Amino acid sequence: MAANPHILLVMADSQTSKLIERNILGPEKFRVSVSKSCTQGETLITSARPDLMILGDDLEDGHHLEFAAKMLKKQPTLPIILFTKDSSDSMPIQFARLGLVAWLTPPLHPDDVLGAVKRGLQRSQDWNAWLKLEASRYTGPLQQKVDELEALAKVGRSLTSELDLDRVLTTVVEVAVEFTGAEEGSILLLDEESGELYMRAARNFQEEFVSTFRMPAEDTLAGEVLKTGKPAFIDAETPQKIKTAYLVYTLMYVPLAIHGRTIGVLGVDNRQTGTSFEPEHVTFMTAMADYAAIAIDNAQLYSHTEVEREKLETILTKINDGVIGVGPDGTLILINPAARQIFRLGDKDFNGAAVEDVFEHDDLLKILKGEGEKSSRIEIEVEKSRFYNIQTTEIPDFGLVAILHDITYLKELDRSKSDFVNAVSHDLRSPLTAIMGYVELIERLGDVNEQQAEFIKRVQLSVNNITDLIDDLLDLGRIEVNLETQIERVPLSSILNLSLDGLANQIEEKKQNIKLEFKGELPVVIGNPIQLRQMFDNIIGNAIKYTLEGGDIIIKSMEENEQLIIQVLDTGLGIPADEQSQIFNKFFRASNAPREIQGTGLGLAIVKTIVENHHGRIWVDSILGKGSTFTIVIPIAIANNSK
Ligand code: ADP
Repeated sequence: MAANPHILLVMADSQTSKLIERNILGPEKFRVSVSKSCTQGETLITSARPDLMILGDDLEDGHHLEFAAKMLKKQPTLPIILFTKDSSDSMPIQFARLGLVAWLTPPLHPDDVLGAVKRGLQRSQDWNAWLKLEASRYTGPLQQKVDELEALAKVGRSLTSELDLDRVLTTVVEVAVEFTGAEEGSILLLDEESGELYMRAARNFQEEFVSTFRMPAEDTLAGEVLKTGKPAFIDAETPQKIKTAYLVYTLMYVPLAIHGRTIGVLGVDNRQTGTSFEPEHVTFMTAMADYAAIAIDNAQLYSHTEVEREKLETILTKINDGVIGVGPDGTLILINPAARQIFRLGDKDFNGAAVEDVFEHDDLLKILKGEGEKSSRIEIEVEKSRFYNIQTTEIPDFGLVAILHDITYLKELDRSKSDFVNAVSHDLRSPLTAIMGYVELIERLGDVNEQQAEFIKRVQLSVNNITDLIDDLLDLGRIEVNLETQIERVPLSSILNLSLDGLANQIEEKKQNIKLEFKGELPVVIGNPIQLRQMFDNIIGNAIKYTLEGGDIIIKSMEENEQLIIQVLDTGLGIPADEQSQIFNKFFRASNAPREIQGTGLGLAIVKTIVENHHGRIWVDSILGKGSTFTIVIPIAIANNSK
């Protein structure tokens, strides 16, 4: 209580209040406030919290006893003295019910007033002391819990904000020592190789001791904890030497476990005093040990991930192939040095840039944006005569990865091979013509017997086959370098009719039905008429060749999205599914192609080159034994739609 207790007088009669203030309380060094109404009195009680109240029974804005009851609810320890003229029998009952300190009646004697005030103040002082005592009984354990939670939170924070394992473990040990009030603490970890425990973090141990500390796990208390996974103690009653370590009075070890395997212990001990550890310390230390274990586990995971990341980075950096990664939103998320080199990008930072802002190559952009052909292997020409094969893979939740492999040398090899084949084919033609000429002369020069005639026929057939092959090779060579640069408006219907006229004999021979399923004429396209005729000859020729007698051949045409689509359908042998991707390769013949059907395996290679020369695409859909559909698409930019 303050040195000069504060007394509040609440009464309407100012004469009495003045008397009490000036003549009785003032000289005794009490601080006095006076209020004439309940309202004002209540405000003062709330704001100034007086030590005692003297209440009159003459208030105008409320009944004094009700007011007293209300104020006691607000401040139960406030001593109240009642000054009343009422000396009826009911007074003591009301007085007792309310728990007031005293009541005074006129005339006022200073000694009575002072006696009542002192009694009241004393009672209030006793109450307050008792309250404090009671409160501390409840808040003591609470405070300890708060300390414990704060310590846990401190380590928790360092665990989430620190990547440095040393610092986290040191914090764990420091907090454990602080909380248990121990003299020193440590984290001992098991060295799997030697079977010994070493000190990974410590508090209050000498540095040299920490760095040289080794203790066998066998037959030691820490070893016991490792084995059982349970806490262990040494208390004041049983001081003992821990094998090859140091003498302690009291000690506590709790296990440090990762994924159910104990890898070490967290320990606190006292070497100077015998202060023992409390049961609640075990719970706390176990929580600390869990924190340490999480930190060690995280660090191991992190270093493992780091090693893997470094490995991958080295591969990506050293690999000769270009690697480009694009996110689902079309931004560049990965580009390795080889890819930078290919597109001459230097070492600019492209993190998060849109692919269009990084690359200028149209074909590459189409591939990276997942547009265009849905083939996983695409060739592009970067700069003049530098060719790359691009392989793309879509990876869920990542985007798309493109790998660029340099195939310039393959292209050159292919060109040299074509040059060689062209040269040889040319040189072979003249001797073959000579052979054919002389073979024909044999029969003219005189009679040949039946066997000789048969041999002559076989020679002629073989020479014809070789001539076909050479013709195809020469065609292909010419078409590959696109020698027929003559580009003109080609009425496709006329070309198709010429082709069908040329094949009419074969169709008739096999009694096949050919149907044209399109309205009107085919469009006029801009292209090379010779090549386009070869395209029809080969595709329709194949449909006839590989369809049995009486089968159907249908030719369809339509225009869609500025593309001319031509389809040749047959009801023939079909192509085995696993060979369909190879039939456009040079010299490839499907395994189900009958031997008696002559062929060089070059026809479709020629068709594909012609279609590509016209900026188009070709593919096959085929069911073995049922038939095949060859689809050719030529963009409308080339197919001029003037009918
Ligand atoms: P070929 O001279 O052998 O006909 P192509 O290059 O024209 O060579 O065709 C390659 C192979 O594709 C053929 O040998 C054949 O196995 C298969 N093929 C082509 N067209 C058809 C078709 N319409 N029906 C079935 N198989 C076909």
